[in-house]
Amino acid sequence: MKCLKARKNGMGNSNLNVMLLPLKLLCQKYFSYLILFLLVGIIYSLLNTAIIMAKSSFVDEAADLLNSVMAQKRIWFMAGFLGLVSALEIIGNGIYNFMYVSLSLKMQGEIQKTIFQKINRLSPLAFETSENLERIKKAREGGNGIFTMWLTVFSIISFYLPYFIMIEIYLYRMQPVLSIFLLLIFLPVFLSQIINHTLVSHYVDTSTPYKRKYEYYNRCITEKRFFKETRFWGAVPFFRSKFIASLKGYSEETWKINKKSTFIHMGMESLTIAGYFSILYLLFRLLVDNTITIGVFMAVFTSIKRMYDLMNEMIVRHIGGILRNYGSVKKYCTFMKMPEYYEAAVSMDGDITLSHIDFTYPEGQKAVFRDFNLRIKKNETVAIIGANGSGKSTLAKLLASIYETDSGEIKTLGREKTSMVFQNFQKYDMSLKDNIRISDLYRDDNDEGQLSLMDSLDMAGLNSRYLLDNLETEVGRKFGGIDLSGGEWQRVAIARGIYRKHDLLILDEPTAAINPMEEDRIFCLFEELSQECTSILITHRMGAVKIADRIIVLENGRIIEDGTYQELCKSGGRFAKMISLQAELYE
Ligand code: ADP
Repeated sequence: MKCLKARKNGMGNSNLNVMLLPLKLLCQKYFSYLILFLLVGIIYSLLNTAIIMAKSSFVDEAADLLNSVMAQKRIWFMAGFLGLVSALEIIGNGIYNFMYVSLSLKMQGEIQKTIFQKINRLSPLAFETSENLERIKKAREGGNGIFTMWLTVFSIISFYLPYFIMIEIYLYRMQPVLSIFLLLIFLPVFLSQIINHTLVSHYVDTSTPYKRKYEYYNRCITEKRFFKETRFWGAVPFFRSKFIASLKGYSEETWKINKKSTFIHMGMESLTIAGYFSILYLLFRLLVDNTITIGVFMAVFTSIKRMYDLMNEMIVRHIGGILRNYGSVKKYCTFMKMPEYYEAAVSMDGDITLSHIDFTYPEGQKAVFRDFNLRIKKNETVAIIGANGSGKSTLAKLLASIYETDSGEIKTLGREKTSMVFQNFQKYDMSLKDNIRISDLYRDDNDEGQLSLMDSLDMAGLNSRYLLDNLETEVGRKFGGIDLSGGEWQRVAIARGIYRKHDLLILDEPTAAINPMEEDRIFCLFEELSQECTSILITHRMGAVKIADRIIVLENGRIIEDGTYQELCKSGGRFAKMISLQAELYE
């Protein structure tokens, strides 16, 4: 198995650079919004601390009320202050949450953009290996991990950290010994998170194989692509028993982890309660010793729960979230560092040349081409024939600049000026019109010298009056459109190929689903179209290759015959044999 050649991926080699990319994009686009979010976060954390101070002053004033008349005035002031800070805290909470949600949407948008841009820059060869397909699929998951990570960093910087620092300063100033409170809150939460993380990663390792299996067996029973065959073989009970066995394995693993985590949770809860009571005890002692005022006692006492909640939120939800997502973040980084596509050189004189080309598929067992050479002159029509697996479709993709070679030099007409009718063309579930214009979305349908949409359909021989009169008709069953026959879909693919502006037209088995009577008409059309551009025709229909100026016979990635129809017929070689064999078959 060969690896894709290491190419420049545009972002250096470090994961950090990859992780910073969405942040850079976000800053470029929403810098002021981001700064505002950080500021609102700091103000919100300030208000949270101010509430404690306001509460403590209010209670102290209330206690003073018993001793002094002056305190009566101040208590109204303190009550007003407490009310104002509480109201502002509620408003701050609303604004901060709103900005958080909207920032996450912006961040998600930027991450999706980096993924789509990267997919667009990947070599189509990257999609030929199952490993890469898996990577691409996982990248989206990893993108979510990155976005969670950055949002966590923002909220820790803007809210949690300032909040805990200010609380620490406040507690220390009230009484230095109070500053250990945060440690008593922090320790149990932190420890339980670490233990939980280790447990969960172990659980994921042991349970995932079972999960993947039972999901797969479930698909074997219920999915459309399987059920015809599995039912025909009578294999449903077989898959059901496999499904049940793997589900049982999964449940056993889940049960084991639940048991363990319940015990650990109970242990950590006891630790938390012990910490809580230590704080209460300390507070009480300090009050009895007159080291702190009743106001400080009340304020801290009523705020302990909030401190616990925020510490829990910061460590379990946010920092724990980063740890949980780290695996998928790494997948995003690997995806973003995948080698990118580079297009072959564009020929200056309009001739296409392949010199000393080597090509092997990423998961191919052997080279498809080795030291392969070919020259196709400008406006020439070349037919390529050969047995299955001889390399025709691969050659077509090299000529269309879809694949890159491993070595050697290739000069094509460039992707921009090339069009192709694919052997395994796509059936898009969208309007008939979009199914055609997708090949050249930005061209004007009335461009002079180019086929219009209607002309393309007409030339491709789609003769359903209804469809021609209703180009907006949805085709394909996925979204409730009408289904087309195999032959009709093929005509849509032909129309798509000829609609695109091109100097090079490649037709890879363009009539496989069209009956032989109709086929002749299509080949006449190709003959007409090929007058104006360079054309490559790959086909098994020997009669059709007459339209070509030149015929190339491929065998195991080598050209074994090359000449005009007459020359090859006369030579009595492989081509001549194929012609007589097909003639016999037709007779
Ligand atoms: P043809 O079009 O003449 O039938 P192809 O160009 O499709 O031949 O295939 C040439 C060789 O490359 C064959 O041996 C085939 O098995 C191999 N091949 C084609 N596609 C892939 C792929 N995606 N991965 C690995 N090998 C492939």
